[in-house]
Parts: sequence; C-alpha cells; structure tokens
Amino acid sequence: MVGGKNTLSATNLAAYHHFNCDLYLYNTYHGTAQQTPSKSTPNQVSELSRAQFQRGIDWETRLLSWLNEQQLLLTVPSVALRGEDLVENILNDDRDRFFISGISFAPPQDDLDRLYIEAGREPVKFGVAKPDLLEIRRVENGFVWKVIDAKASKSAKTSHQVQIYFYTLCLRYLLPQPLFQPANTASIWLPPAHGFDLYSPSFDDLKTIDTSLFHFPVDDFLFRHLPKTLSQPRNAISWHFNPMCKGCPFTSDCKEQSTKQGRLGSMSNISFGEARVLKNLIESWHECSSSDLKHPLTDIEDLATIFGKGENVQKLTSAYPITMRKAKRILALPARNRMRPTTSPIIEASRTKKIQVIQHRNYSCPRREDISVVISLLQDPSSPSSDIVSFCISIFSSITLPSVPSVLQGDGFELVSSLAFVIETILLHQEKLPTLPSTQFYVWSSAEHSALQTHLINSALASSHITRDIRLCIGALAQGASLLQTTFQPVLLSGVLMDFLSKGRRVKADFQSILDRMGLSTEGTINQLKQRIQDELQKYQSDAGRQEAEEQRRKEIGHIPRVVVLKREVERSLAFPIPGFWDLPECAAMLGNSEDCPSEEALFDAYVTGSSVWKLLEDRNKFVYEILGSLRRQVSTNESHLFVNIANPLSAYFMDICREEHLRKLFYMQQFEVLARLSELWKARIDGCPEAPILEYSDTQQGRQRAEHVFYLMSGSLDTPASEKEKTMFDYLLVKDDDYDDPDSGNNLPVEALFDDLGVSGLVFPLNRFTRSRWEAQHAIVQKGLLLADIRDITVDGSRTKVTLQTWGSGNGIRLTKGTHYRLSPRLVDFNISKVLSTLFELDLRRESEDVAIPFLQLMLDPKSFKGSDDPDSSKIQAAFRQTGTDLQKLFRELTGLGVEPATVLVLKASQNRAAQHILGNRLTVIWGPPGQLIMLTYQCQTFTITQEPERRIPLLCRFYD
Ligand code: SF4
Repeated sequence: MVGGKNTLSATNLAAYHHFNCDLYLYNTYHGTAQQTPSKSTPNQVSELSRAQFQRGIDWETRLLSWLNEQQLLLTVPSVALRGEDLVENILNDDRDRFFISGISFAPPQDDLDRLYIEAGREPVKFGVAKPDLLEIRRVENGFVWKVIDAKASKSAKTSHQVQIYFYTLCLRYLLPQPLFQPANTASIWLPPAHGFDLYSPSFDDLKTIDTSLFHFPVDDFLFRHLPKTLSQPRNAISWHFNPMCKGCPFTSDCKEQSTKQGRLGSMSNISFGEARVLKNLIESWHECSSSDLKHPLTDIEDLATIFGKGENVQKLTSAYPITMRKAKRILALPARNRMRPTTSPIIEASRTKKIQVIQHRNYSCPRREDISVVISLLQDPSSPSSDIVSFCISIFSSITLPSVPSVLQGDGFELVSSLAFVIETILLHQEKLPTLPSTQFYVWSSAEHSALQTHLINSALASSHITRDIRLCIGALAQGASLLQTTFQPVLLSGVLMDFLSKGRRVKADFQSILDRMGLSTEGTINQLKQRIQDELQKYQSDAGRQEAEEQRRKEIGHIPRVVVLKREVERSLAFPIPGFWDLPECAAMLGNSEDCPSEEALFDAYVTGSSVWKLLEDRNKFVYEILGSLRRQVSTNESHLFVNIANPLSAYFMDICREEHLRKLFYMQQFEVLARLSELWKARIDGCPEAPILEYSDTQQGRQRAEHVFYLMSGSLDTPASEKEKTMFDYLLVKDDDYDDPDSGNNLPVEALFDDLGVSGLVFPLNRFTRSRWEAQHAIVQKGLLLADIRDITVDGSRTKVTLQTWGSGNGIRLTKGTHYRLSPRLVDFNISKVLSTLFELDLRRESEDVAIPFLQLMLDPKSFKGSDDPDSSKIQAAFRQTGTDLQKLFRELTGLGVEPATVLVLKASQNRAAQHILGNRLTVIWGPPGQLIMLTYQCQTFTITQEPERRIPLLCRFYD
C-alpha cells in the first residue's frame, strides 16, 4: 500500500459522506494499491479549489472578527490542547457567554478505543481535531458547551453534521462533567445569503441539529461500518466511479481501474443510485440464470448479455418489472420492448470505446436556428456571494445582423446591459424581416444556467439596472416569463381597467399612466385615450384575444428552453466512452476538436493571476458552438429526426406594470416564485417524470361523494394525505405510464409536458360551467390522455401499499384499465397568484392617482412610523382597548354558555385571542397563520377605535402555505 495516513480526521469523515465512498476511506487510511498522483498536495491544488478554500477561510475570518467586535470571542493558541488546558481557558474567562476559536486537540483515543472494543470492532485511529468554534454558556452550576463549525456553503449538509457530531463526541470525554455539560445540540454557521461582504453574520444563520437525532446513524457509521470497511481486504471494498467523484484525490486511479475491470463506472454519468439499480439487476440475473459461469463476466459484459437476448429481457421483466424499467431508463433503452434483444448505446460506448447516438427523440435542443447566442460566465467561488466576475456573449448568425457585434465581453456588472443590447437589437432587426428568424441562447453547464438566472433575479430585485434592460433580459431568458404575462396580464388589466373606467372623474394624466403601463401610445385627447383603453379592454375580453393568448402559451409549453444547457443535451443524445464523468474540454476532444479547449481551471487561473480571461472565454464560446454543430451532425446521420423542434423567434414578454420601486420588486418576486416552481415541474416532465410513483389500477368503489379508484403502489413513494382532509385539490396529474419515446408507442412528448398549469392553477375542481372552458383550452392530447387526481387515502394492504384516488378529466379522456400502470406527478396549484398581483397593481395605481398614504407601502418605506405614539395618554387608550377586547370575549363566552348559538362562532381560539390582544395594544400587527386561522391584519390609529374607523384597515396581502 502506498501513502496511507493510518489515521482519519473529521474532515475525512465529512468527505466520505460527500463522496459516499468506502474506497475513499480505505485509501485515505491505508493508502492506494499503487502510487496515485495526488491532487491534495498543497502545490498541486488548483486555483479553483484554492478559491473555494479561500471563501471558507474568508467567511471564518469575517465571523471571528464579528464575534470579537461583539466581545464574544476568546482565541486560544492553535497548538494541540489537552482537556485540562481547555478547562483552564474557560475557567479564566468570566463572561456569561462566549465563543472559543483556534481550538485543536488530539481525540481521546483511549476512550474511543474502548468504544470500538465494546462494539466488538478493531479500533480506528483519528488525527488532530479542529472545530471552528466552541460556544460556552455559564449556568448555575457550571457551563454548557456546544460545537459550531463555520461553513461557507448555501445550506447545512450531512457531511457537515457528521463532522460536528464527531467533535462533540470527542469533547464529551475531554471536558469533565458535571461541571461542563454538552448542550445536546451542535451548529453549522452559514454566511448571510446575500454575501458576507455586505451583511454581518447573524445568529439566525446558525443551523442547529439535535445530536441525539444523529446519535444512532453516526455511531453506527463510526463504530460498525467504518472499522468493518477498514479491516476488509482492498478488493472486497465496494466502490463506483461516478460524477460525484470530482474533487477526490484518487480519481485517476479509479478511472483507470473502472475501464480495466469493465465496471459500471466505465460508463459516463451513472450516478451512485443508478449503479445500485444496475447491480441489483445483474445480481438478480445471476440468481435466476441457470448458467454456471466459470469465468465471471465484467459488469459491462453482464449487462450486454442480459439485454442481448430476448429471453433474458422477458424473464427479468416478468420477475422484476420495476428494476428492469429503471435499468432500461438508465441505459437509454425503450421501456416497453419486452421481447426483443436490444443494444444500449451507453453500454456499447463503454465496450467499443466509440461515441454512440442515443436513439431518443430530443425536444429540448433545437434542430436548427438562424441566430445562436452562446454565453460563457466566469464565477469567483472565493467571493462572498460567488457572483459572476466576467462574461462573454458570442453571436453566430446565418443572417446579417447589422449593429450587433459578434462578441460582447465585460465584467459581471455589465452583463444585464450587454444582454439587453443583444436582445433589443435582434428584436428590432427581426421586425423588419418578412419572416421572423429563430434565435436560441446557449450556455454550457447547469452551473452557468443557474448563475445567469440568479444574476437576473438579483439584478431585478436590486434595482441597480435600467428597468427596461432587466425586463428585456427576464422576458427573453427566463423560462415561463411570457407564460405568466399571457396568463395574468389580461386578467389583471381587465379587472383594473373596468374599475378605472367605472370610477368618477379622471384627469388626462390618469389615462396616460394606465396606457403607458399597457405599452400603448399616450398621445391624443382625453377622449381618444379613453377610447384606446376601452378598445384594449374589449380585446382582452373577446374570444379572439383569449385564443391568441392561448396560442402563445401553447408555443411555450413542452418546447425548447429559453436558454439551452448544451452539456445536458449532449448527455441526452450521445454516449461517450469516458469513465465516470466528463466536461467541456473532454467533450470537445471527443467530438474531434484537435485544439485545446480552455478548462474551468485554466479560466480561473487566468483570472486570479490577473491575465485577461476574455480571449479564453471567447475561445470557449467557439468550442461550445462547434460542439453544438458536431452534436447535430452526429445525431442527424441517423435516419429518424431525433431533434424534433426548431428554435422559436425571440420574444421578451414579462409582466412589469408596477411603477413604485418596492411594489415592483414584490411583483417580480411573486412571479419568480411561480417560475421557480414551474421550472422544477417542467424539468421532470420533459423526460416523462422518471421519478414519479407508478401505480397499478385495481378497481373503483363508490366513496362518500364521488367514485374512488383503488391502485397499488409499484414504485416510488407518496406522502400520506392529511387525515382531516376535506377539500379535494386535484393536485396531481395521472397519465398512463407509456414509454413516450418508444417508436412503437406512437407518442411524442410525454402528456404531462403539454399540460398548462397556469391555465387552471387557480380553479376549484370539479370545474363548473363557467370555468370549464379553461380546461377545454388545454392541448387536445392533455384532455384525452391525462386525469387530475387527488390522493384520498394511503393504506397498507398485506405487503402492498394501497392508494385511493379521486380523479377528474374529460368525458372522452382515459379509461382506467385493471392491471395497467399509471404515473402520478404534481401540478401547480395556487389560488393566490392573481390575487397578490392584482393587489400590488391596485396599490400601485392608488399610490399614483390618489393622494392618500398607503399603510402597506408605509410599512416598507418608513416602518418606524408605526412605533408607539408619543401621546402620554396612548398607553391608557391601549389598555382600554385591551380591556374592551377581554370584556367582549368574556361576554361571548357567557352567551355561549347560555346556549346563544350565534355567539359560539365569535369566541376566539387562544391563538386568535392572543393576536387580537396584540392588535388592540399596538399600532401595527402582522399576523401569519395557516389557512382559516388568519383573522385580520389591522392598522390601528391611536385616536380612533377600530369600530369607528373600519376603513383604516390595511388591504390584506398574505400568502397561504399548507
Ligand atoms: S474517485 Fe470516486 S470511487 Fe474512487 S475513491 Fe474517490 S470517491 Fe471513491
């Protein structure tokens, strides 16, 4: 063995939970079978990894200096301390609460060894432990302590929790009890969400875990799994080379061994969970196959043999239908092909060492476009907010685009204006052409995609950019933004316009303000302006207007994303003979590019060393564009058209009708929240909801009000519905579990991908004669092949899980058939979107047209104005209010006791009474409660009682969450 440490640190334990790999532990402790070029030696650490470390160090430094400012910090010398040294340091500090930094100690090996021996295992040795902070609180008879680790990540992870649990375990032995009591909790201290350079650390960002909850699983890992793993011979360790291995110091060794040994890791992008499914399949096949294999095959050969014979496929499909189905999906095989031998392109890529085309239709990468816009983004992981520091936008066009440069580059803060310039120029140009050209935006990786979306959202909320620029960018690049606009703008505007036209006297400026928001001309006389508004209102309300909006929506659903993530599309359509995982340079080389494509590391190295990154980013964009061309060529050599769609013309619709800065931001935020939920749904639907639970239909029974269908759960999991559930939300989609990509099935897109959530998201089902037309506006395939479903009950029936559903759909829709499989996936249900948007819009109009103070705005602009009055009588008045409230409650209670029925409903519950008392004693009360419990939000003016001035109540803006 080469290079083992024969000890493990808490960081190694955390890394194990990140990589989910026993071999990582084994190699770290015992060393590798052969010398592996280690990436972990300091002088070989890449600049990118160094930047990530640096961010962690910077966050810790910032946190310590803040604690110091708060006079809460005690720094001890960073030498390995004994328990008694630590005790002495604590006893010498007379503060009631403080945090110790710089602690390092040797774990109490004797105590740990004893625990291993009690567990009947060989002891494992541990290296020096360095928790970031130890919180000390002085209590009556001693001290309570708690371990805290500072992590510069977005959320607390299991790996972090294991690390702090281990520190806590050690300190229990080092700090003598009962003087020192562990707090039974430990915490991860995360940086403020919007950057620790801008915001101070906060105790609210301490993510605390109850160590007793971790006691069983982590002890099981430490005292059973870990010693067992380390005491096995090397070749008995189970491991799988997969995309999560990125960053492990043993990658080159594992990559080589995966190929040599024909392991599952010799295929690309097979996750740990997927490998487990394939392993199960191979083991099942070994069990049920009669062949006595004298020379065991490799994993890859096993899989090729299984799928190479029709009888194997049939046998395994009958015995293990769910595993077989999952395996086929992982290996890109048609799911319903039961009998025929098949060849998986993914297995074949590994066997033949050649690229293979995956014979699946691709709906998310266009077959062609007239204008391709490729965006490369460079982020600095060491910066407090990991923001974009540089970008390059390259435009490749088959049509002449005067005044659009082929490349635009700049620093992160110029990204929005540069993108807006490109979008606006294309829009202006396309208006002049007889047919609209198609335009498609591309980024390479999912990380760039989410960085772009986050950057746009943050820019919109920070108001640091010209409004028009940000609106153009979101409208053109945020998936679903135009859907929101076509769905809700007519509803909002027509409601508000009717109100506007029906109300008394209006001045010209009022009409102009409304027209301006609608994007219409503000020129003309007052009568002309009024007529223009009336015409627009009529358009919204006419059938033709509605149909046009529906048509626009249909174009967006189930089609090409506004920004295509090219790496994802390459993975969807091509299988590479690259073990584990690959990235841009490997992909470019694989597709025949002889030149060196700049890697992420190279880009970041250039950035930190102060060299210009723009040339590198420009080159990167050229490689991305060439990969797109190669991908299309590879796929189009096949007879069938696997790339189904052609890119759409550019459009940039986004609802932006509020003017007041704060209301506009809230209006944006409401839309972003809906878009985030929609994009999660769409991501799964385009692939046919692979993780959706599969149900087998059994029979139908008459429920209390409607027919209820009984299914059995075949795979996946479902949440049990609330026991007191009375309302039927129909919040799931139920479709027959066909293989949509099977050429035999004749289907195109998965049915769910064509479902328009927004069209019916705020409707109560079953629909009535007024709302039914909204269902009829859904795609014909949806009406025919999809049911809305509501889970009424989940019970255990013998060894099976019985699921009872109510369904709703078109009369000529799908008929449930006994023994058939159906999949169940969520839909967007939200009754509040249009209400919240309307309220914000109405407030915005009121603010502009009426000369009144709007308390809701006042709450944002000048919250201090709500603090108590200086009037010396105010406390007396408040006391009187509170007494009145108490008297009223008492009265209603007494009346209820006397059997006066109407009084019963007026008796407040304890929580409602508390809220009411707060309202009576304060000028402003915000009440946040579950549906049905929220009673009111009231602005109480000091000089009037609530009943005398009911109009002083603030319009209620609230969101309900179940
Ligand atoms: S490269 Fe992957 S499989 Fe190999 S030791 Fe590291 S985590 Fe485990």
